Amino acid sequence: MRKFKTESKKLLDLMINSIYTNKEIFLRELISNASDAVDKLNFKGLTDASVQVSQDDLAIRIAFDADARTLTVSDNGIGMTAEELEKNLGTIAHSGSQEFKQANAEHQGEDVDIIGQFGVGFYSAFMVASKVRVVTRAFGEDIAHVWESDGLEGYTIEEGERAEHGTDVILTIRENQPGQDGEPGESYDTYLSEWGLKDLVHRYSNYVRYPIQMLVTKSRQKPKPEDAGDDYKPEYEDYQELETLNSMTPIWKKRSSDVTPEEYNEFYKATFHDWEAPARTISFHAEGTLEYDALLFIPSKVPFDLYSKDYQKGLALYSSNVMIMEKCAELVPDHFNFVRGIVDSADVSLNISRETLQHDRQLRAIATRVEKKIASDLADMRDNDREAYEAFFENFGRGLKYGIYSSYGMKKDDLADLLLFYSAKQGKLVTLKEYREASPEDQKAIYYAAGDSTERLAHMPMVTSVLARGYDVMLCTQDVDDFCFQAMQTYDEQELKNVAGGNLDLETEEDKKAAEEAASENEALLSAMKEALGDKVVRVAVSPVLTDAPSALSSDGPISLEMEKVMAGQAGAEGIKSQRVLELNAGHPIFATLRAAEKAGDTEKIASYTDLLYNQALLVAGLPVEDPVAFAQAVTELMK
Ligand code: ADP
Ligand code: MG
Repeated sequence: MRKFKTESKKLLDLMINSIYTNKEIFLRELISNASDAVDKLNFKGLTDASVQVSQDDLAIRIAFDADARTLTVSDNGIGMTAEELEKNLGTIAHSGSQEFKQANAEHQGEDVDIIGQFGVGFYSAFMVASKVRVVTRAFGEDIAHVWESDGLEGYTIEEGERAEHGTDVILTIRENQPGQDGEPGESYDTYLSEWGLKDLVHRYSNYVRYPIQMLVTKSRQKPKPEDAGDDYKPEYEDYQELETLNSMTPIWKKRSSDVTPEEYNEFYKATFHDWEAPARTISFHAEGTLEYDALLFIPSKVPFDLYSKDYQKGLALYSSNVMIMEKCAELVPDHFNFVRGIVDSADVSLNISRETLQHDRQLRAIATRVEKKIASDLADMRDNDREAYEAFFENFGRGLKYGIYSSYGMKKDDLADLLLFYSAKQGKLVTLKEYREASPEDQKAIYYAAGDSTERLAHMPMVTSVLARGYDVMLCTQDVDDFCFQAMQTYDEQELKNVAGGNLDLETEEDKKAAEEAASENEALLSAMKEALGDKVVRVAVSPVLTDAPSALSSDGPISLEMEKVMAGQAGAEGIKSQRVLELNAGHPIFATLRAAEKAGDTEKIASYTDLLYNQALLVAGLPVEDPVAFAQAVTELMK
């Protein structure tokens, strides 16, 4: 017996003893090797005139024997000579070996999942097999060779027989393991079942270029006997038929003009397990230094787990029709986490590791292009199918806003024009651009209000004051809105202003002067009111903009009232408070009442009225009244 090289042995040990759950990928690896071997022969036939290869015969076969517990993957490809067997299967010959050595050095002694990190090739067979036998005959040779190993210490190579060139990899599938200490056991029976194998081929190798065939059992009606009477009941019999399990031509490699929308929809539903057809299908092909095909879908419904912790974003990554990864997160940014799809590039290595993914330049280049493509497709939908876009935005708009916020505004240029907000003036959803285009020449800022419902916001004093001046206000009801605008700061060189944030730049010089005068005339009253409120507010001020309501709350500084509300519900952010300002309307009759009380030295009345005004303003802003019982009593008192 020949011994495995040390590094091979380490990998084998790891593989067999690891808790690695994705054992099923072994079939993908064996099929991909078979496909490579057929490729090599095919290539020889195309480049060497003395080699005749019949394209039609090239195929990969899968066969299983449940009783003998064997599973065989065969190909009629190039095969291996004895030296090649030794070189290729006696050591880790594939390109992943360097990465393996590194990963192994870094994780010495840890019970790590490094197997899942890169293609492990041929050796992955030992995850499910207690013995592997390889019968192979190299193209152009007369004798075959047999390699055999239990995956522990070493292997044997002997001469053998095979009718033609090609390779059979015969696995003796492990016995099922009973569960221990309440842990579930391990069953290997799927790898010996027609259903299980079909499913694996379908999932991992559906787009391998050569037919992957298997004898499948079917049922048919027996021919009706000549002498059958009237009471003849049809009889059935089982028979076996060679079936091609894979679809071979990947739908994403086809030109989109050659695929019907129905085909795309069916593919989407089957591949991504959605009941509904996608809202959009985006397909494109990139050429040049980096070649790849991409097929992307925007779901028409929010995936049920999109906002759960377990949700994994990502696109399936294929390399030359072989799936490398079901969800490659690096291919889509977080704000497009709802996009599903496939990227296939021959330029990406089958053995790319999860660790090197992030640094892979090719992958980054693809991701950049994918992001741009999604954004431009959404812009197209916004401009040409507004109804569909509004439905999309209802589903996924929150994520786009969050993308601006979480990138500290860096994504603003890409995403701002994709946002929609409810316009108080127009009574419908508008983009920021539409808002700007509809605003009067003299308007200096973009106004928005944040709160729980558009109906309520529409009646807020600050909103009605802004609207009264002929300016529109965007009514924002999602908790992320205020944060998104704070991160953006400006749009098209205009400041984004929360109407409850003070400093609205709305007032005319006249308004301003009037407010300043009222403030200085009533200094004593304002300070008495501030005293009555104590720490609840940082200031009591005369508002230059309030038109109808007697008072309103605004805030100084970066934390708005709405942000305070949102953060109150978040762990760790409970203590974050806005700096509240009680703004008064000096033209309101209540202001006159307060002035009179101040003149008469009625501090009690000032205190109780101030409290009422403050609580009213809280209610209007959608914030809880601090002491509801005292508030109700005070109102009752007034009504007597
Ligand atoms: P990789 O496919 O990444 O090279 P593997 O561990 O999967 O690594 O396979 C190791 C080598 O064994 C292959 O490169 C190939 O030369 C050889 N090999 C494996 N399976 C076959 C096969 N069915 N026919 C011919 N050669 C094979
Ligand atoms: Mg391989």
